Amino acid sequence: MKHIVFYSGGIGSWATAKRVIARQGKENVVLLFTDTLIEDHDLYRFIDETVREMDVDLIWLEDGRTPWEVFKDVRYLGNSRIAQCSHLLKQKPANDWIKTHFKPEDCILYLGIDWSESHRTKAPLRNYASYRVEFPMCEEPFRTKSDLISELEELGIEQPRLYKKGFAHNNCGGFCVRAGQGHFAHLLKELSDLYKHHEIKEQEMREFLDKDVSILRRTRNGEKINLTLRQLREEVECKKTDQIDMFDIGGCGCFVE
Ligand code: SF4
Repeated sequence: MKHIVFYSGGIGSWATAKRVIARQGKENVVLLFTDTLIEDHDLYRFIDETVREMDVDLIWLEDGRTPWEVFKDVRYLGNSRIAQCSHLLKQKPANDWIKTHFKPEDCILYLGIDWSESHRTKAPLRNYASYRVEFPMCEEPFRTKSDLISELEELGIEQPRLYKKGFAHNNCGGFCVRAGQGHFAHLLKELSDLYKHHEIKEQEMREFLDKDVSILRRTRNGEKINLTLRQLREEVECKKTDQIDMFDIGGCGCFVE
């Protein structure tokens, strides 16, 4: 029986791996990482140090495309409703690898969803219906993110730098098409060059599709309207932040949709 942990490079998946190793023994555990090729450089340091500390096998998968290349290929700009990048760069490579190597009765899959987001367990249970899927961080003892960061740092491993910069997750370098206005405003504040890179990519997609599309949307007079990254940046720069919903952080979760 193999115990396969979806290892995203986030603190939740690290804590999940630690729990699974404690219960099942490290020789029976495999970590599965899917690289979108736009990850933060410090994510690789985090993965390298934690995998060495846990001394377990790591399977590294990559489709070979970035989310932006996927959007061009599928001729659709990802957003909070449909994110093909998540399906093609994360779920599909992981699913293909699992199905190629293990029958449902030969493995258990583990995801890093915790007790505070247990409503998100429904989608993976449905998506992997023929496999057994477990969520160790939804079980006692319950841990907060800061508890986990302290436990990590007690091992002499620094938390991912995006957490220190106030990002809620460590996926896709702080970018995510499922994120909301508040998240992107934070990206602009903390990593403005990266924000501008994604702003340019969004403009390129608009020209490529020759359509008024955008990652973000906002509601005006009860109607949903597009909000480009360029508009959002200009609003922040002109201090028109009253129009920006800073509480709209969105929800990033490549394996929970
Ligand atoms: S983190 Fe967001 S942008 Fe990256 S692959 Fe997942 S859904 Fe797409």
